[in-house]
Amino acid sequence: MNHKFFTSNSSQTKKVGRALAAKILKTKSGKKAFIIGLVGDLGSGKTTFLQGFAQGLGLKNKILSPTFIIMRRVGHFYHIDCYRIKNPKEMLALGFKKIIANPKNIIAVEWADRIRKIMPVNTIWVEFELLSEKKRRIVVK
Ligand code: ADP
Ligand code: MG
Repeated sequence: MNHKFFTSNSSQTKKVGRALAAKILKTKSGKKAFIIGLVGDLGSGKTTFLQGFAQGLGLKNKILSPTFIIMRRVGHFYHIDCYRIKNPKEMLALGFKKIIANPKNIIAVEWADRIRKIMPVNTIWVEFELLSEKKRRIVVK
């Protein structure tokens, strides 16, 4: 997978997230957890993208920017934010290995570059770049 998107408002970014979720639901094997790693500066649209992503998974719960929360779980969907993580060991202490080992799980990790060492090889990386106040570049790898 190597797709590049340019968006000029948050609903367009949500739509890209929704589309990725739809694709995952169609292609997920059931043998492995699905994990996406989101990388990009503060305000580049990672949480906004995940709002669309969660919608695409059929989740009704609102996706929040978990500034003070590292992990939120809704069913088999895990939303992790590593903004406050200084060492990958902190994520391991929260049971990260077990979460990624459960084939039923779908995991989205914001600031995933902070725990790159422990992200699985099958991670789909989604990179966000702030081009201007409203413009974002999103690269899915
Ligand atoms: P992050 O999680 O990367 O810190 P957020 O998604 O929380 O970023 O915040 C992105 C902010 O930028 C929101 O306030 C959103 O309304 C605004 N925004 C403006 N244009 C866009 C766009 N094209 N895509 C996503 N967010 C946008
Ligand atoms: Mg965020």
